[in-house]
Amino acid sequence: MLNETMYAYGVESSVIREIFTYANERKAQIGAERVFDFSLGNPSVPAPDAVRASIERSLAELTPAELHGYTPAPGLPAAREAVAASLNRRFGTAYTAADVLMTVGAAASVSCTLHAVTCPGDEVIVIAPFFPEYRVWIEMAGATCIEVPAHQETFQVDVEAIRRAITPRTAAIIIDSPNNPTGVVYPRAVLEELAAVLEAVNRTRAAELGHPQPIVLISDEPYREIAYGVEVPWIPALYEHTVVCYSYSKSLSLPGERVGWVLVPQVSEGARRVMAAVAGAARALGYVCAPALFQRVVADCADVPSDVAAYARNRDMLTRALARFGYTYVEPDGAFYLWVRALEDDAEAFCERARAFELLPVPSNSFGVTGWVRVGYCVDASVIECSLPAWEQLAQTY
Ligand code: PLP
Repeated sequence: MLNETMYAYGVESSVIREIFTYANERKAQIGAERVFDFSLGNPSVPAPDAVRASIERSLAELTPAELHGYTPAPGLPAAREAVAASLNRRFGTAYTAADVLMTVGAAASVSCTLHAVTCPGDEVIVIAPFFPEYRVWIEMAGATCIEVPAHQETFQVDVEAIRRAITPRTAAIIIDSPNNPTGVVYPRAVLEELAAVLEAVNRTRAAELGHPQPIVLISDEPYREIAYGVEVPWIPALYEHTVVCYSYSKSLSLPGERVGWVLVPQVSEGARRVMAAVAGAARALGYVCAPALFQRVVADCADVPSDVAAYARNRDMLTRALARFGYTYVEPDGAFYLWVRALEDDAEAFCERARAFELLPVPSNSFGVTGWVRVGYCVDASVIECSLPAWEQLAQTY
């Protein structure tokens, strides 16, 4: 019998992808240079030269079995060691390969972690606005997605609202900083406040239940490297029960290659069980192993910096122009999305009107809030430059 839930996921697809598909159709009709597609987080910055060098070295030096063979399920030791060593250099930690499991990108990192740390009927808190796939992954794990609004205007985490939303069924909280879709970065003080709330809940649970079942903080960090001069705190240093989900999709511009990792610091028996469950989830979900060639890229390029300058230039060009045209937006400290207030309450109606000017932002409804749009500025600078008259004309219709 057909699984109707899967059928619905398949035929509805995501709003972001629908807009991306529409953009491609429209480009075929009127010419790519006349369509301003701000929908997808597909980096326009090319992958660093070191990535190509690594691939060429693998092609030249490895045997076919090494090049294309399965790797161990948790990943190649060289890749896991390179990730641990890179984190240790940056954050003064003492991780080893045992703390790292290579994955098929952050999507797999988060969904494996959710399967590992929740049971059917558990609750997982997300902070609205949130990356829409979180709901799909949470529900796939049999858990319930609990939306907690961020602070209005600043879109920072509302720690008090999270505290109020926690129930005995709360198994995990997903945070995502630098944030998709708002571009905000959560500062250390806010994360410390959140950690204190979670620790207090864990203490109460331990006292009342006898079996401590700590709330897991899932830190989804595909944008960690894309920050504009602000600190992106290392969250496991602030809260012990953190699982970090990382990806090279954005930092090395490799979204189609599907490689990332999960980090579970092996500091306790509980953490070792979580890591084993993440590995079990990767097995159960059929991931087998992360792509071999790109695990070798990670082994070679774990310390290669991201080219943030291009995104910073795009951000500046877009924000200056939109401010001039009368738009308001959240000042982005990271990622490559601008969170702009729609010029009418109904963000979908605003996006419909924007289409007449070939402007394609994403309405905020799909992120769990109303009245805003996400403008992905990871596009080529020329797209932003050419779109500016259209943004101005759109504003003039209001
Ligand atoms: N999490 C967030 C917040 C994202 O924005 C994305 C992709 O855009 C992902 C996860 C999935 O990334 P990946 O390509 O690494 O699976």
